[in-house]
Amino acid sequence: MASQAHLNKWEKRWHPLLQEWVILAATTSQRPWSGEMIKAKEENLPEFDPGCYLCPGVVRASGEKNPEYRGPYAFTNDFASFSMDAPDVHRDEGFEKTEPVHGTCRVICFTHQHNLTMAELERHEIEAIVKVWQKEYSTLGQHPKIQNVLIFENKGKVIGVSNPHPHGQIYATNFIPRICQRQLDSFIQYHKEHKSGLLADIVKYELEKQKRIICENKHFVAFIPFFARFVYETYIVPKRHIASISEMT
Ligand SMILES: [Zn+2]
Repeated sequence: MASQAHLNKWEKRWHPLLQEWVILAATTSQRPWSGEMIKAKEENLPEFDPGCYLCPGVVRASGEKNPEYRGPYAFTNDFASFSMDAPDVHRDEGFEKTEPVHGTCRVICFTHQHNLTMAELERHEIEAIVKVWQKEYSTLGQHPKIQNVLIFENKGKVIGVSNPHPHGQIYATNFIPRICQRQLDSFIQYHKEHKSGLLADIVKYELEKQKRIICENKHFVAFIPFFARFVYETYIVPKRHIASISEMT
């Protein structure tokens, strides 16, 4: 008889937000690894680096000088992927179809201190970052051209973020990215069929199961979704129903 240990190692799991299957292969984490290993703390960094374009008082490549800021600081990316000034050109010739992409890219320095990560900040310092996210979300979202405001952080040399200064980004665009649109469609479809919220029902289910909860307090719950696509993928969800980050208190 086959050993029980081999059961459930390969399966696909339904992702209710993206409406697609996620392949789960538990064995891949057992593969021998001879590639690069990442250290938890890469090197001893100074609190201020005059060569870092995100540090206070440093002149950036654009010629603009950062103020002597303390705490979080937001500015428009000097090398933005989108611009409100993009020419309004539409073209459709054979296989060459183009539309203008309007938007803006913001950089959020989480703190003036070059050598910290957000996890190492004090609670009031993290609250200050959330307040900046809320302000940026509201301001950018009110622009008549903006359809979507995406707040994110890419972190670490391994994915190409060469500057260790703690910072995140915001992409505000005149279109809704495909994944966001698919999630919106899933929420609408689920509400039509069940007369309740998809994410609220997932949270309720996870709280009943108590199998994948990482931590929970009065206002938020953090859990690994059953349909996680990445190692360490975590959802942090407010228990109170809110439409956007701007409604957080
Ligand atoms: Zn810096």
